[in-house]
Amino acid sequence: MSIRREFEVAVVGLGGIGSSATYWASKRAGADVLGLERFELGHERGASQDHSRLIRLSYHTPNYVRFAQDAYRAWAEVEEECAERIVLKTGGVDLYPESAFGWMDDYTTSLDEVGLPYEWMGGDELMRRWPQWIVSPEVRVMFQADTGIVAAATANAAHRRLAERAGATLVDQARVTTIREAGGLYELETEAGTFRAERVILAADAWTNELLEPLWRPISLTVTQEQVHYYASRDLEAFAPERFPVWIWMGVPSFYGFPAFGESGAKIGQDVGGAVVTGDTRSFEPDPAYAARLDAFMKDHLPGGFGPYLKRKTCLYTMTPDRDFVIDLVPGHDRIALGQGAAHAMKFASVFGRSLVELVFDGAAASDISAWSLDRDVLTMTDPPKSFWM
Ligand SMILES: Cc1cc2nc3c(=O)[nH]c(=O)nc-3n(C[C@H](O)[C@H](O)[C@H](O)COP(=O)(O)OP(=O)(O)OC[C@H]3O[C@@H](n4cnc5c(N)ncnc54)[C@H](O)[C@@H]3O)c2cc1C
Repeated sequence: MSIRREFEVAVVGLGGIGSSATYWASKRAGADVLGLERFELGHERGASQDHSRLIRLSYHTPNYVRFAQDAYRAWAEVEEECAERIVLKTGGVDLYPESAFGWMDDYTTSLDEVGLPYEWMGGDELMRRWPQWIVSPEVRVMFQADTGIVAAATANAAHRRLAERAGATLVDQARVTTIREAGGLYELETEAGTFRAERVILAADAWTNELLEPLWRPISLTVTQEQVHYYASRDLEAFAPERFPVWIWMGVPSFYGFPAFGESGAKIGQDVGGAVVTGDTRSFEPDPAYAARLDAFMKDHLPGGFGPYLKRKTCLYTMTPDRDFVIDLVPGHDRIALGQGAAHAMKFASVFGRSLVELVFDGAAASDISAWSLDRDVLTMTDPPKSFWM
């Protein structure tokens, strides 16, 4: 059977954000949606494929808090349609060691401005409520009840399945090599032949500049190889999702972790701890120094969650210099949108994809995405100041 070649909208890159875009596009254009992925669907070479990602309303600026509210609502819609659980609220604790006290205000001010509840406690109270923790009594802890887990791999598969159910065509092993205007359409040359579309959504994350540079100019992106560990936790019961909230250690270095979800043991990662790589030069080998940091944190602070490795997994972070998103039309192309998630976007993936679809169809998004434009100076400076802290 010959494959269809012309569509109303094409989505390039079917990770978390692109898969979402195919779903939301299929609600607008039904079978007139094409998704193109350079590897196999659900592959592990990008950023989105693991059991769990953190979702939270607690963010450092009000626009992220509001976008996170939109994200929870968008996930609820997807859950209803796919009849699967994607978001699991476990509650979440942000732990501030003394050296990080200066950052607490950004979070409380943002939550206050949007009118959302949270609770402060000291290290003693944390250990009373969750004896899994060992921390200094000086640690300040913010609890927010809506924080939880996005079942990332489940979500990505659900988005794609719903898109296909609506008639979308998803093609894997189809790396897009060139995008050009031709006769009022965009022509996408791929390893699986040439396709044409009226509108294009780019969601290529670590490979963004390969597509963006020929259309406009490259932006400053730093790609790092991060890693997460799952342990056969000594006290598995204490790390069940209903007993143990997800957590972020807001220090330098910063760590985060999960109860047992998807594997039979606790999970930990570090925020921005890995070597600079590219999507093509990264390895899949865990880094011993990185591993030692994760293990030491578990032994010191969550000893019951520690144990032999169940699984260690590497993954790519792709970050803008200010760690802010890009959700915008590409200058000079009012029917090509670019999404870049700055290595904290899985929680937003559904509303992120929906916003990209709205941009290419309506020229504007329902959510407030005004802070995440492509033409902000820091993206195109030759040697921009970089601040990956959020
Ligand atoms: C270890 C780790 C922990 C994280 N923790 C969290 C968290 O707790 N909460 C959170 O919200 N976020 C978290 N993130 C960040 C989040 O996972 C990413 O921001 C998000 O998954 C990015 O999605 P994406 O679709 O842009 O990227 P990807 O999933 O990488 O998808 C990009 C896709 O584009 C494809 N592609 C690239 N170029 C082409 C081309 N030319 N043609 C066709 N296809 C192409 C790639 O193959 C890939 O499939 C974490 C990331 C990592 C690595």
